[in-house]
Amino acid sequence: MLLTKMFNRPNSASNLSSEDLMDEPLIIPRPEHTISRKQISSHALKVLYGLKDAGYEAYLVGGCVRDLLLGHIPKDFDVATDASPEQVHSLFRKSRLIGRRFKLVHVGFGRDVIEVATFRAPPEQEQHVDGQGRIVRDNVFGTLQQDAWRRDFTVNALYYNIKDFSIVDYTGGIADLQEGKIRLIGDVETRYREDPVRMLRAIRFVGKLGLKLDGDTERFIPKLASLLDDIPAARLFDEVLKLYLSGNAAVTNELLGHYGVFDYLFPETGKLLHSEVDHFPRTLITKALENTDTRINIAKPVTPAFLIAALLWEPLRQRWQHYQNKKLPPIPALQAAATDVISEQVKRIAVPKRFTIVTRDIWTMQIRLTQRNGKRAFRLLEHPKFRAGYDFLLLRAETGEAPTELAEWWTVFQFASTEDKQKMVNELSPAAPRKRRRRRRKPTTKKD
Ligand code: ATP
Ligand code: MG
Repeated sequence: MLLTKMFNRPNSASNLSSEDLMDEPLIIPRPEHTISRKQISSHALKVLYGLKDAGYEAYLVGGCVRDLLLGHIPKDFDVATDASPEQVHSLFRKSRLIGRRFKLVHVGFGRDVIEVATFRAPPEQEQHVDGQGRIVRDNVFGTLQQDAWRRDFTVNALYYNIKDFSIVDYTGGIADLQEGKIRLIGDVETRYREDPVRMLRAIRFVGKLGLKLDGDTERFIPKLASLLDDIPAARLFDEVLKLYLSGNAAVTNELLGHYGVFDYLFPETGKLLHSEVDHFPRTLITKALENTDTRINIAKPVTPAFLIAALLWEPLRQRWQHYQNKKLPPIPALQAAATDVISEQVKRIAVPKRFTIVTRDIWTMQIRLTQRNGKRAFRLLEHPKFRAGYDFLLLRAETGEAPTELAEWWTVFQFASTEDKQKMVNELSPAAPRKRRRRRRKPTTKKD
């Protein structure tokens, strides 16, 4: 932790409601922490100074402050200010107002975007409800102090003040960081009920930062995990990507299982994992996630389609067997199974079609990769998703669920010369001879 001394919790973040907010924040002056402007993106600094020079308050807040204090490189930089969204918008030429309920401003610098949010009041003061219970007015702005208390975890409610480079802590985030704890602000059950996605965020931060969940913050997750049922599928897809594509997917997936959350994200897989008699499915998922983590950590591209293929492989296999038992041939059986499994899954997590199409390709490829005779192996190599299908076969072979011989054959085949490729195909046991219809010869007419 990049602080020069231990800081005590100024007040307990738990069991405080927004009425008894702490008045005096803990302020950590510049010499007592190590966040320097060199670590802050030049774009974020431009926004911070732009606001400050126009007479507004401006702070870095959220994940970037937390990550810098932990010695990590932040993913992005978020800014909080007392300027209204319209005022922010008018200050920066390349900015736009986004969001309907809560207006934010995105200030663009080429492809980089700095998100600027106006201080917000906690939810109970934010929503003005009419006789029918509809929200008629929201986006009520608040003070810095209120903004801190409406955030999720204490470690996410630290502010870096551009005016004097100090860190402002209303909720005890500094002490929690020093103790390595993730603690929900306020009454845990209320805050999880308010937004159940906070449970996923808690788990993600444990996986990513290696911190521990604090008592109630941890205890309530298994109790309230079923609330995830009510989260819109599109939002869950975004969160699932963050969970599985942050370079710590294997650990995070373990945690999701441990806290009973996995079953609400992938119900069919969850069921089978609980009843599993062999170890293939669990091992396949773990290996797929480990591969994904490795690729992300060396900046290689990954596709969510591959992850989905692995996470749903076991339900797919079972369904596939079911259709084969009903005498469907392997490929149509697999396609029918894929339709069932995917349509069930997207009810929970809205995986876009562009990914599920590739997931299907990867699965179908598992049959095609076994059909190597004639020109088939050559043709398959040209398939745009050959690589993903082959990688998936390797994974299956590694877990003992597909023949190693088959995986090795493809490993050699794809890099062999055309001549050797042909030899490899010739050496395969011949395919069942195709029935050919004899062509009748035309009767030859003698020319006189
Ligand atoms: P990272 O960007 O590394 O994933 P982050 O903490 O910055 O982590 P964001 O989703 O970028 O996460 O959110 C920025 C900040 O907004 C958070 O740090 C937190 O203060 C606040 N926040 C985000 N989601 C919630 C939520 N569901 N409830 C309350 N506050 C939230
Ligand atoms: Mg962030």
